[in-house]
Amino acid sequence: MGFKSDKEYLEFKQSVVDFLWKEVDPLVPEMEANDHIPIDILFPKFREAGLFGLIIPQEYGGKGLTNVQYLPLLAEMSKVSGAVRALIHVHLTAARAVMVFGRDEQKKKLLPKMATGESSLAFGLTEANSGSGLDCKTNAVKQGDHYILNGEKHLITNADFTDLFMIACHTGPKELGRNAMSAIIVDRNAPGFTIEEMPHLLGCKGLGHGILTFKDCKVPVENVVGKEGMGIDVFLGELEPSRVFVAASSMGTAQRALEESIKYAKERVTFGKPIASRESIRTLLADMAMDIYGLRLMLEDVAKKLDAGESCPLEASIAKTHGLETVCRVTDRAMQVFGGRSYLTSFPIERLVRDGRLNVLEEGTPTIQRLVTARAVLAGELPWSTPW
Ligand SMILES: Cc1cc2nc3c(=O)[nH]c(=O)nc-3n(C[C@H](O)[C@H](O)[C@H](O)COP(=O)(O)OP(=O)(O)OC[C@H]3O[C@@H](n4cnc5c(N)ncnc54)[C@H](O)[C@@H]3O)c2cc1C
Repeated sequence: MGFKSDKEYLEFKQSVVDFLWKEVDPLVPEMEANDHIPIDILFPKFREAGLFGLIIPQEYGGKGLTNVQYLPLLAEMSKVSGAVRALIHVHLTAARAVMVFGRDEQKKKLLPKMATGESSLAFGLTEANSGSGLDCKTNAVKQGDHYILNGEKHLITNADFTDLFMIACHTGPKELGRNAMSAIIVDRNAPGFTIEEMPHLLGCKGLGHGILTFKDCKVPVENVVGKEGMGIDVFLGELEPSRVFVAASSMGTAQRALEESIKYAKERVTFGKPIASRESIRTLLADMAMDIYGLRLMLEDVAKKLDAGESCPLEASIAKTHGLETVCRVTDRAMQVFGGRSYLTSFPIERLVRDGRLNVLEEGTPTIQRLVTARAVLAGELPWSTPW
């Protein structure tokens, strides 16, 4: 726990909330129009507000937030800007991988710089011509004190600015199964490494992505995260909390859509009455609240379990799936409340619709989440431990 008292945490939380609405929110229309996050302006402010180090332990210069404390802040970021949320989410999820799986000297070297945003690590798993995980084609062959890395990754968030990339690759023969893969940190300036910008996104405007190409790229052996052969542990281990973080992002976007819809329904008058008095609009608002409440309870449960050190891949997949369905349903209903104005960029709903769609794809599609969930329940696992 990074804060000595709840009061201290709540004061910090409020300072972040104020920062997001006062300093980030006014820049969102420009970020949407230019598809660009003004890094020069915002990064020094993120640093001052503590965003880069929210979950990094205090001993490394971060704020040391627990999951229970972090999720509401991630949700608040989503309310304001999907792009800023995704940028910080990727930065901190990669930092978490170092916290959990890195060697002591790696933690000491990387985390203090990541806590200030002086350094950032992107997460390179997805490939254009293979499935994520053991199917990956990128490989690294050890030669003396270096690996020679070859392969390609795409859709890699934050590739526009990060100095470091954590790459999933094979370091051993396929027969080794899950031990055949490693996570290796590659410096942006490593010889043989090139980055190509990707096409514009549907939502989360301003977020940068890249295609990463490694051609006989030389990487020091010491850059392997933890130990060689731990790659699947690192990537699957990180996907678990990361799915919960994405669910919290869905929560924030959905909550903003409900808040905006309640306000609008009270203000918009047709045939002499606010639309909030119409049964059809009330039903939409009630359905939105039901979805959000369910998601919030799931998030509170899974965050407590993660903080207690419990492994909860089942809960993480369920929360991620309920989150993506919630954000899609709630933003769709918000469009119905706002009518034609929902389609205008001068109202926040269309941005929330577009931003929320990323939560469907991040950290595994709904199909994959359902595969994980079904496999667990068929094996007798359930997200609750006592019968009702
Ligand atoms: C904006 C954005 C940012 C991203 N950032 C990152 C990042 O920083 N790092 C990173 O590594 N990735 C990143 N991704 C990639 C993202 O995680 C993947 O796009 C997502 O996990 C889906 O993988 P895919 O695109 O390879 O889809 P595919 O694997 O091609 O899947 C297509 C469809 O087929 C289904 N499918 C595929 N394989 C199977 C199977 N075996 N069984 C059943 N169904 C299957 C999928 O569920 C899906 O419905 C990002 C994506 C986006 C859009």
